[in-house]
Amino acid sequence: MNTLPAADALVRRDLSHLWHPCTQMHDHQTVPMVPIARGDGAWLVGTDGRRYLDGISSWWTNLFGHANPRIAAALADQARTLEHVIFAGFTHEPAVALAEELVRVTPPGLDRVFYADNGSAAIEVALKMSFHYWLNQGHGEKTRFIALTGSYHGETLGALSVSDVALYRKTYAPLLLTPILAPSPDAYEAEPGESGAAVAQRRLGELRTLLEQHAHEVCAVIVEPLVQCAGGMRMYHPDYLAGLRALCDEFAVHFIADEIAVGFGRTGTLFACEQAGVSPDFMCLSKGLTGGFLPLSAVLTTTQVYDAFYAEYSAGKAFLHSHSYTGNPLACRVALETLAIFRDEPVLERNRVLSAHLAQRLDALRGHPHVADVRQTGMIAAVELVADKPRRTPFPPGDRRGLRVYLHGLTQGALLRPLGDVIYFMPPYVITTQEIDLLVDTAVDGIERAVAG
Ligand SMILES: *Cc1c(COP(=O)(O)O)cnc(C)c1O
Repeated sequence: MNTLPAADALVRRDLSHLWHPCTQMHDHQTVPMVPIARGDGAWLVGTDGRRYLDGISSWWTNLFGHANPRIAAALADQARTLEHVIFAGFTHEPAVALAEELVRVTPPGLDRVFYADNGSAAIEVALKMSFHYWLNQGHGEKTRFIALTGSYHGETLGALSVSDVALYRKTYAPLLLTPILAPSPDAYEAEPGESGAAVAQRRLGELRTLLEQHAHEVCAVIVEPLVQCAGGMRMYHPDYLAGLRALCDEFAVHFIADEIAVGFGRTGTLFACEQAGVSPDFMCLSKGLTGGFLPLSAVLTTTQVYDAFYAEYSAGKAFLHSHSYTGNPLACRVALETLAIFRDEPVLERNRVLSAHLAQRLDALRGHPHVADVRQTGMIAAVELVADKPRRTPFPPGDRRGLRVYLHGLTQGALLRPLGDVIYFMPPYVITTQEIDLLVDTAVDGIERAVAG
């Protein structure tokens, strides 16, 4: 191939009326818009027949391949049976069965399921529920949240409030709640010679200090367990989660685990929290929940939280948060089928082989003069490009080195979409080792081009 995809009629119609997310639309004067006709396993197929290996699972959603026949069949069957029904006062089999299955597979103690329809909405639910729990307990003074530096929890106003990625937050800051930021246990920020576990302990000490000052006004600490994804695939030691659980108990604040990106096997275990043996008070799920087919999210919480809302109507304690498409049967059915695949197939075992292969292939990049770090947690791997390796000085953001890797990928039939200058791999679980080779080879060539000149 070696060329970029050309604009066709579909692209021209798109650019006449559409406005895309996370995009300066002016970029499309030079960056191609890629028209996709269909999906095929780990591949996307363009309207011109060009194929792109989806190295990022289409924004971390896809698990078992595009147009997965098994999930597609379940969806078609559900569409002919019940497409949607109001979820207040009414219920249906897919919603109930999915709740039962989520309670079964998530860490112990998460026995209640509240549905919403995307990741950000799940975060809004968890924040409101935590606040409202404390209010119902007579602690209306608890109105704030602790979030980690470098965190990302979505882009609606509440979710963006507890996020700390400047690109998304800075412009809208005047509209947002002010969280208390605790330093991330990010292992990339280790002192020379300091282990990931030692960073976790140091950061727990700093969190303790914050809680000593602020716990009385804090509802919850919210974190992305093990990997801060949109913040640059920064990774940390599971000990931090264990310590966080203990601190939240000691200081009477909730622990919200945002497993929207890391859930469903991404980090090597079904849920990242398992690696620390902890159960949060709230767990937010979305993205892989439907195998990448439909928007759906779920917030799991404890009986203790649920009971604080359960009272006579006149007590006015009911939780209030409703979306028209709450508990959508199509989405729930597709999620059930996704979880059935985890039951029927050795998904995590297969992923261990794939992630070991990916690790072995990426190892060669460690010595690269512009690669400051190669890191991996299960099926997420990242390569951090820098201008000056010993000092870890980033390239000027205006260089847009990562964009060069993206464009090179398009010429080679690979969808790699770096976060700034962090090149990462987060493929669907149906990828093969040969396809991983193609992704890595393309990334390595792309990196050479990106760091030159
Ligand atoms: C993607 C993401 C969200 C937001 O989910 P949307 O469905 O895009 O709103 C929240 N938290 C994390 C960790 C995410 O990666």
